[in-house]
Amino acid sequence: MKRLQNLNTNIGTTTATVLNIQRMSTEDGPGLRTTVFFKGCGLRCAWCHNPESISPYPEVQWLEARCIGCGTCVKACPLGAVAADGRGIHIDRSLCDGCGACARECPATAMELLGEEWSMDRLVAEVVKDRSYILNSDGGGITASGGDPLVQAPFVAEFFRRCREEGFHTALDTCGFIGTPSLERVMPHTDLVLFDLKLSDGAGHKLHTGHSNSKILENLVHVRDYIESHERPELWIRTPVIPGATDTEENIAALAHVIEGLLNGAVSRWELCAFNNLCRDKYRRLGIEWEYRDAQLLDAALMERLANVARDSVTRPEIVRWSGATAGEQAAGDGQREKKTAATHLVKGCG
Ligand code: SF4
Ligand code: SF4
Repeated sequence: MKRLQNLNTNIGTTTATVLNIQRMSTEDGPGLRTTVFFKGCGLRCAWCHNPESISPYPEVQWLEARCIGCGTCVKACPLGAVAADGRGIHIDRSLCDGCGACARECPATAMELLGEEWSMDRLVAEVVKDRSYILNSDGGGITASGGDPLVQAPFVAEFFRRCREEGFHTALDTCGFIGTPSLERVMPHTDLVLFDLKLSDGAGHKLHTGHSNSKILENLVHVRDYIESHERPELWIRTPVIPGATDTEENIAALAHVIEGLLNGAVSRWELCAFNNLCRDKYRRLGIEWEYRDAQLLDAALMERLANVARDSVTRPEIVRWSGATAGEQAAGDGQREKKTAATHLVKGCG
């Protein structure tokens, strides 16, 4: 019940549950950006690189390396959700309601609360601090990412409105799996939509993300129609290239067919994002078995081959790029490829 109450406070315009704010990002839109990661996502992609962003609620994680074994967190938890034994601290997530008492009391910052409630005024004031580098970079701005920021659409719409009032370019990074009214609410305040398109096949989409792609495609058409009638926002498509799920020539060709057939030239960039395995420890700290725990990075040759399939399948091949760390990486880019630093706390571009 407490969780429901918490969630209800998060779907208005006054506060939002924010996971993190990442500064100087070069991966979430043009120029230098400040990216706000909102909690909550409707999809359950098996490869998700930010598992801590899926739940809309605050969550705690235990950082073993920092723990001094004092047991304070066990006593601090009002719900008896924390236990200690010879192997460390254990959180019973069926009892934990994310109150954060254990994190506040821990003397070693070994208990960390993921997700904090931010007021609108505080969040706007926080991003305004970055004005100098944002406005001095080429096309820089503010990106709302997650999770899917549209889970908290009323807040994000007002946040973007305030950001644009401050002169900032706004980018919405969405998986598209949301009720269309949420999308409609944010679009008028958005300069760029970064829209994830993962699998063309509905059954495969359901298998790997928990849901069919029909709502996502419906929302994509809505974005297209909005662009056609308003001549904005810009639209970038992002496709995570995931071993055993999305990394086939057939899938890329089929997605190209969607982009060509459905979007009427509205797309100005299509980015293929290589699978990233840097989030293994995040899953462990959250007590989740990760299906991709042992999966390795992809080969650059495969990424280039898939990018070529994409280029050969669209009328404007120049919109296609690929990015992300690859096995045997370090090779120099080829001019089409974007360099990225994979070792970020929150991994984006591969949703
Ligand atoms: S967040 Fe609150 S309920 Fe959850 S383990 Fe910590 S103290 Fe207990
Ligand atoms: S309070 Fe912090 S340092 Fe002490 S046992 Fe708990 S997690 Fe470890």
